[in-house]
Amino acid sequence: MPNTTANISDDLVQMGRPDRINGRNVNLPPELGSTIVFDTLAEFEAARDARYDSGTMYYGRYGNEATFKLETMLGQLEKADAVTLTSSGVAAITMALLTFARPGMHLLVADHVYGNTRGFCETVLKRMGVDIEYFDPMIGGGIRDLLRDTTCAVMFEAPGSGTFEVPDIPAIAKAARAAGVPSILDSTWATPVFCQPITLGVDVVVASMSKYLSGHSDCMMGMIASTQQYAKDIRKTTMAIGDKTGSQEVFLALRGLRTLKMRMEYFDKAGRDMAQWFADQSQVKSVLHPAFENCPGHANWARDFSGASGLFGVVFHESSDDQIRAFVDALHHFGIGVSWGGYESLVLPVTPARSAGTWAESGQLVRFNIGLEDLNTLKADLTAALPHLNTAAE
Ligand SMILES: *Cc1c(COP(=O)(O)O)cnc(C)c1O
Repeated sequence: MPNTTANISDDLVQMGRPDRINGRNVNLPPELGSTIVFDTLAEFEAARDARYDSGTMYYGRYGNEATFKLETMLGQLEKADAVTLTSSGVAAITMALLTFARPGMHLLVADHVYGNTRGFCETVLKRMGVDIEYFDPMIGGGIRDLLRDTTCAVMFEAPGSGTFEVPDIPAIAKAARAAGVPSILDSTWATPVFCQPITLGVDVVVASMSKYLSGHSDCMMGMIASTQQYAKDIRKTTMAIGDKTGSQEVFLALRGLRTLKMRMEYFDKAGRDMAQWFADQSQVKSVLHPAFENCPGHANWARDFSGASGLFGVVFHESSDDQIRAFVDALHHFGIGVSWGGYESLVLPVTPARSAGTWAESGQLVRFNIGLEDLNTLKADLTAALPHLNTAAE
């Protein structure tokens, strides 16, 4: 099998498989192992010296054939020089930040980041003495005025968790790079099918693979993709901490990735259809979806992304807490739970946290993940539950 191919469809089929297909299984089996043994001390020492390079068999914690192949495949999809797998999406974020954060240094964080990113900054990083500053995600090139000599990294997300504003990725990445500061982007929502942030000038891309990349709600994993400049420091940090992806998860991620492109293409279509349907309902105040013109940063999305995933927000006209509960509980085809990006539809009321500013919308925000159910089934389910909520006139 070729190691790299010309386009994403071929990469998703051909990469991450056994080197010699002749007389072998189509897929790599789950690879279990801790100790790796060598014939000579010299060979052992050579492996030890190269243990931070993806592809070196040294010890189970550092990876095995299947993990290295998955890392190579993700690197090709992200157009990154190197990828390190992590045990969860949160682990990818925290270890990317720990690679750069030092006591007394300054960290810029977009105000709309994923809740656990903010949580890690407010607990572990503050305890370490890192000075955290939140910025307006729509700041664009204006970020240069916030960069200091002591700034260790810029952490941002596209689009924002729950609120879906799309920042100007190239402008923020360019300003950071010009100041010698690494930019870290959480790109879980788009997947490399719709956006490859490294090609837009971002230094480090983090993503939860528990979402669309594995895609079936049965796998927890994360990845850190980067340019060559930061690759070894990132890997050393993850190995120093002792993080490790499970062999079963690697197998499931490889299996899920095979259908990534067709799943994303479907979710793009289904998500827009459902978002438009919501926009037409009298209980709905606005829809937060990057493909809609009212979404802050819509023009950035149109320029930098080739599609939208099936996760978006709906702001309902003011209703009581009891009404929102009655609406959510009345849905039969939308599970209530965190995470998203599997094959099943989900619903979750969310309250955006803000430090740098206030979130502009009034009304109740509910996040929807569109799954693979028939869209008419989902619309009928929602139609039956929506009368629990107020319309504009009430
Ligand atoms: C879910 C999520 C994560 C965390 O991923 P886990 O695999 O659940 O740890 C990180 N970033 C974003 C944007 C997410 O939605």
